[in-house]
Amino acid sequence: MKPRFGLQARFLALVGVTFLVVVCLLFLLLRKERQQQDAVEAQSLEAMHDMAMETLRLRGEGITAQLADRLANPLYYFDLETIGQIIQGTRRQPDVSYVLVFDPQGRVVHDGSADITGYGQNMPDPLAPAAVAANGVRSQWSAHVLDVSAPILVGQHRLGGVRVGYSLDGIRKYEIDTRERLHERLSESSERHLAWVLALLLTLAAASLLGAWLLQRNLVWPIRQLARAAGEIEAGNYVAGRIESARRDEVGNLIRAFTRMHDSIVRQNRDVRRMAYSDSLTGLTNRLGFRESLGERIAALSGGSGQLALAFADIDDFKRINDTLGHEAGDEVIRQYAQRIQRVVERWGGPDTLLARFGGDEFVILVQGSNVRATVRRLAEALIEDFRGPIALHGRRAFLGTSIGISLFPEDAGDAVELMKRGDIAMYQAKRAGKNCYRFYSRAMDEQAAQRLRLEDDLRGAWERGELQVLYQPICRVSDRAVVGAEALLRWEHPERGTIPTPQFISVAERTDLIGELGPRVLRQACNAVAGWRVPSGRPAPFVSVNVSSRQLRDGDLTEQVAACLRESGLPASRLHLELTETALLRDVGLAADLLSRLHKTGVNIWLDDFGTGFSGLSHLRRVPVDGVKIDRSFVADVETDADDLALTTAIIAMARSLGIQAVAEGVETEGQFELLRERGCDLAQGYWLGYPVTAEEFARLLG
Ligand code: C2E
Ligand code: MG
Ligand code: MG
Repeated sequence: MKPRFGLQARFLALVGVTFLVVVCLLFLLLRKERQQQDAVEAQSLEAMHDMAMETLRLRGEGITAQLADRLANPLYYFDLETIGQIIQGTRRQPDVSYVLVFDPQGRVVHDGSADITGYGQNMPDPLAPAAVAANGVRSQWSAHVLDVSAPILVGQHRLGGVRVGYSLDGIRKYEIDTRERLHERLSESSERHLAWVLALLLTLAAASLLGAWLLQRNLVWPIRQLARAAGEIEAGNYVAGRIESARRDEVGNLIRAFTRMHDSIVRQNRDVRRMAYSDSLTGLTNRLGFRESLGERIAALSGGSGQLALAFADIDDFKRINDTLGHEAGDEVIRQYAQRIQRVVERWGGPDTLLARFGGDEFVILVQGSNVRATVRRLAEALIEDFRGPIALHGRRAFLGTSIGISLFPEDAGDAVELMKRGDIAMYQAKRAGKNCYRFYSRAMDEQAAQRLRLEDDLRGAWERGELQVLYQPICRVSDRAVVGAEALLRWEHPERGTIPTPQFISVAERTDLIGELGPRVLRQACNAVAGWRVPSGRPAPFVSVNVSSRQLRDGDLTEQVAACLRESGLPASRLHLELTETALLRDVGLAADLLSRLHKTGVNIWLDDFGTGFSGLSHLRRVPVDGVKIDRSFVADVETDADDLALTTAIIAMARSLGIQAVAEGVETEGQFELLRERGCDLAQGYWLGYPVTAEEFARLLG
């Protein structure tokens, strides 16, 4: 999370505020200085003015007093010429505006002009009366003039007076000049001040910026780096979460401490992963670890050009080892098998090949590289070849094959889930193809598998929903065509897809555990149905023949189920026939022989279904207690046209005879077929020509 008001921002804000305060203070300082300057200027000017006036006054009074002395005699003698000469001398001084000599009444005696223009006139200006009345030297000011007057005395006798007028213009001009000069000086000094202040401010701003940059570089950036690294570690990106620092300060120490903590987390994480992601039995990567690696590799390759091949390898018939030799032996087999695969993978897989145990007897190999198809093919062939050799097991030798399914990325699947699913489908196909082989995934497989899966889903609960029904097909005695029994056949009416062919859903049920539920239900219903059927007296009570799958033989407690059904329905054991296919028997002859003899002893009849299709040879018939064989309908269908099929059918009937067991023909569709079978001495027959599979109620009516 990015801080809203981080260190950097706070620092800048502080700098900004400080800057502002400094600017304000400086502004106030400058203002104060300006005011002081103005005051200094005013006071200086005033002092200067006073001084200039005083100087002028003193000079004027001196001169005027002197003038009054010098004028005493000439005035006494009324020597106007001398008076004129004396005052001319003063009059010529530059700042003197006028010199007036006057009599005691204040009339002008001489004014310095050649023809004394004002002679005898009273002095009109307002300063005149005071000048005339003065007893000593007297100075008076008007706006433009300093008027200095002194009485002219001879002894105690007053002859008149003299007035000298000094112009103030000179002083004014001087004052103005001085003021300008002073102002100039003060302004210069103030500008210098301002320049200093500005320089100070700029320095402050530069220092702040430098401070901000240093803060950013030395504190903010490392802290952000730490926060980012912590985020990466949190998200599991340990490589991106590692940071280093060569700094020798506290921040450097903090980063180094953080890096040590990172390394410790990585180590712990690795240990945890090792524990969680490896298989305890083989030491290989387990399902969890494999899924994660696969996801990572696919993510890394997405959009690129790399390829992956996934090989699903499953030990064939491993369950048999577990069931017969125990789980410890099973574990030993898994361990040895893992070592073998590991050797093969090391030799044939590339450096990036990953081997994992997926659980049970399933292993997965992930091949990465440029030509994965060729590599994985070589690997699969090498594995199959390797497994031709026996595994040593407590002094015994066991032979186990392996079925391998291969899917390719991105050719077959675009993501991990699909890739695994398709590898599994391909492996299942390899098993179906006879085991101990490998198969590459193809799209056709997928559709089959998807359909099977859908069917499997739908089949669960179909019985409860009433979609499954048991029908009964009549089985007739060939000699007189009398109905002597029925075969119970399961039907599935799918709500959307209509009738599903029985072999199709039976194979799905057999592959899953569903047959374990359906088989006993059919058995119970068939027993109850046939126990309720009544036949006219003199005719033998009908039997019912129920199909039993190989899975029921292996997994279930068939004998107990049969006993329970017979008990429940009250049906005599002799009226129940069980149909087993050749292949079901062949899967484990020992086991089947044992189970069937126990059943046989209770009185239940055992029939071998679809006889002839498996070509197991007749030797099995001697080992298994069989009461009859059902000639497969593929032979019956062609008895009229195909001499070989007729010969085979005839041979089977003859063989049954010689063994003292019944021969039952399936799929009789024409009268011709029926006649041929009768001629050959076949005991029983069933087929559409004799009767379609019908419900229990319809069958009961049929008997009546
Ligand atoms: P199956 O036991 O060989 O059953 C005989 C099959 O042949 C039945 O097919 C029957 O309808 C059919 N069929 C009878 N007469 C004729 C005929 O004249 N012409 C032709 N073309 N076919 C005829 P269905 O019912 O489809 O059963 C197929 C197979 O499904 C059975 O073969 C049996 O192996 C298995 N199956 C049926 N019901 C059950 C069951 O309840 N449990 C087990 N485990 N398998 C069953
Ligand atoms: Mg059958
Ligand atoms: Mg059959």
